[in-house]
Amino acid sequence: MAAMNNISELKPFKSMWKVKGDKIHGTVKKDEVGQFTHVLQQGQTKVQINFTVTHSSGSYWTTKHPYKVVFLPTTRVRICEVLPYNMTGLEPVNYHAVLNGKLDPDFLVDVVGQVVEVSHIEVVSVNGKDTQKISVELCDTEDERLPLVLWGKFAEDISDAVQLRSENIVICVLRFGKIKVWKGNFVMFYERSISNAYNVSDVSVNPENMAEVQAFIRLLPKDDLKLSIVDSKPLALANGVSKNDDFFVHTPRKTIAEVEKCIVMATIAGIDSDMGWYYLSCKVCAKKVITVPNDNCDDGDEHDVLACNYYCPKCKNNSPKLLPRYKLHLVVLDNTNDCKFLFFDNLALQLLHQPCIELTGPITDEIQDPDVLPPILNDLKGKSFLFKIGIEKENFIYKHDTFKFLKIITNLGMINEFEAAQSTTRNIHNRSPLSTIAVFFDATNIPI
Ligand SMILES: [Zn+2]
Repeated sequence: MAAMNNISELKPFKSMWKVKGDKIHGTVKKDEVGQFTHVLQQGQTKVQINFTVTHSSGSYWTTKHPYKVVFLPTTRVRICEVLPYNMTGLEPVNYHAVLNGKLDPDFLVDVVGQVVEVSHIEVVSVNGKDTQKISVELCDTEDERLPLVLWGKFAEDISDAVQLRSENIVICVLRFGKIKVWKGNFVMFYERSISNAYNVSDVSVNPENMAEVQAFIRLLPKDDLKLSIVDSKPLALANGVSKNDDFFVHTPRKTIAEVEKCIVMATIAGIDSDMGWYYLSCKVCAKKVITVPNDNCDDGDEHDVLACNYYCPKCKNNSPKLLPRYKLHLVVLDNTNDCKFLFFDNLALQLLHQPCIELTGPITDEIQDPDVLPPILNDLKGKSFLFKIGIEKENFIYKHDTFKFLKIITNLGMINEFEAAQSTTRNIHNRSPLSTIAVFFDATNIPI
């Protein structure tokens, strides 16, 4: 029986869920965009059936959820007639939290404010393309001010609203705005503003049907704030992080050799059960099979079984022979830090000396209870090995904390030799403690 889960409980270990409520990022891959553009429209409510759940990553996080939903070619989108309440998903942030650096700039934020100051539109060259830019100052119900820079069409929208305002106030609602951090006039002093993120943000001026905005207006101080039109702000504010700051201040310097591969000696602390420990693969090509929901799966009955078939996208086979294979997300640590290593089937086999199917038996179901681990997996906890890992684009640009693991050495003699060598020689090329790796995803901030 498939129980109903909340969206906050979504985890990647399986792909058949029944969920409701809350907010999560959704991604449609490039190949499937054509299939879904006509059924996914902003503001509409839909039922989505059959999708996968993976790590949320990237420089721009639209929600706080650690995972995101990814559409499959077999995902179905149905019209949803009723929702218990009008959900806008709007979660305006406190200006203070933006300005004092409490909010992580990797997460996009919603902002509601009254426009109290606005510049004339400027045309600035961005990557060789003329782009409109406007600088705005927003005011909230506490009379706090927040600098906002809007680019492209949004600059025009604000400018038009300001021209046409007559006696009315201008309210700006920015959804999925980017917190920009830039170096102020003093050394080591950072200032912050908000900007629209290309292709992600949405700006509405004086939206009429948003309860949150009506509540905001009611709370605004009654002493009529004059809207002033000012000269443009200096470029430093408008551009956020300058190229110079980005390369020399925000991003630690590393050589290619350090970034690509390294050997670490680490102890397995546990298995990330959110990710499950095996996946159902096609016996022929080893690729993960995707689920295809049966027709009775979307009849709205909360207690029906989520029945499904499997499809191999590589072999284009509707009834592939199934074989469970390992996909272990090991949480490892050394005396400096912890991180996650991903073990696919062939490498996990080196560690466990037993094919996955011997642990699972001949199964045709996705993993349902990933917290229950076979004893052989539990026995890995506390064991130390040498790991050769690759640090990929995802790790240092997208701050993904799971590393692709390339080789393992379980030979005790070699491990002891490594340990002895490490304690006498430091900073040897290609050897690095976990804390060095951790630097990449903690401090790197390369915008894309
Ligand atoms: Zn296949």
